[in-house]
Amino acid sequence: MLRPTQKLKISLMTEGISISPSARKRMEELHGERPLTLADYASTSGVAICLEGDVWVNAPISDHNPNFVVAPPSVLDVRDGRFVVVSGKTEVAAELLPVPGYYDKRNESGELYIDYCHTHTDRARISPIEGCSQACKFCDLSYQYRYRLKDVSALVESVRVALSDRLLPARHVLISGGTPAGNDYEYLNNVYEAVLSEFSDIPVDIMMTPLPNLMDIERLNTLGVHQLSINIEMYNSGLAERYMPEKAAVGIDAYLGFIEKAVEILGPGRVRSLILVGLEDTSDTLAGVKALAERGCEPVLSPFRPSPKTPLRKLQPPGAELLSEVYQRSVDIVEKCGVKLGPKCIPCMHNTLTFPDDSGYYSFH
Ligand code: SF4
Repeated sequence: MLRPTQKLKISLMTEGISISPSARKRMEELHGERPLTLADYASTSGVAICLEGDVWVNAPISDHNPNFVVAPPSVLDVRDGRFVVVSGKTEVAAELLPVPGYYDKRNESGELYIDYCHTHTDRARISPIEGCSQACKFCDLSYQYRYRLKDVSALVESVRVALSDRLLPARHVLISGGTPAGNDYEYLNNVYEAVLSEFSDIPVDIMMTPLPNLMDIERLNTLGVHQLSINIEMYNSGLAERYMPEKAAVGIDAYLGFIEKAVEILGPGRVRSLILVGLEDTSDTLAGVKALAERGCEPVLSPFRPSPKTPLRKLQPPGAELLSEVYQRSVDIVEKCGVKLGPKCIPCMHNTLTFPDDSGYYSFH
């Protein structure tokens, strides 16, 4: 059974939230004039909120998702100087996470740090490749940005800045971003080497497509990678060909084979995989969850959020009932396989369909 705050998170993810003028004013009093969100990616387009009981949510707002956030039933407001989420007769204490202090700061070359690094909740994410060599229809990267490689030392510096940020200090790092074209594999491996060596005392995760000869799991393990995220995204091969043709060409068997090998080398709890909820039938999503969990991988349920910048802008996100069902049935599946839903990091649950439980497995970095 889901608790009321967990149900609220699900409804915020699917219907969005409005921000009252008082909440905007309070945010400005606390942190100065700044955007409410970096809105840098389809699933981080909203405001990051921590509801009481450590239920973290990235709630879409109409500023960035006018395609489906229309008259949301919940509002972020202020009572006695504190943020609350009001939904009907329910009122839940909340913390609104600010964008990092470095969002408008520049490096010595005059470039914005934000062009290299984005912090959400407690994680700094760098994207060595802007844009992507592939074009999945649910992902805005290739539609929004031109493909280019970023300077390695500027990436490293941006992580350093994010870790010591005054407003939102990052506690761990994710290297993700677009998939490299064939002749840029070496560049990406140089980034992995540089970041993992430079920040050996900080958990650094890598999220990437398992293209043949791209990632050397043994080497990444030696360098101290914390976790790998190898996202299958979809399990239905016909829909995968329609929505993510290049990733589908790799083939689900290759994904699962790589994941199995990664679990073998890195050990349990160090490999996760995102699977979208809402683009394929529930039975396909659950079959994907099972295929991952059986291999010792943590499935991460990622509710589909249509980005206005993609060809899927006119689709609606999955409804609350569907999300609740997929969550609860997925929990049953992973329990039988002796694994957990990811991510393990509680603040990183903000844009996923996951909740901390009382097992002690989930934690803060
Ligand atoms: S491969 Fe990854 S980054 Fe590239 S378009 Fe697909 S989801 Fe986006």
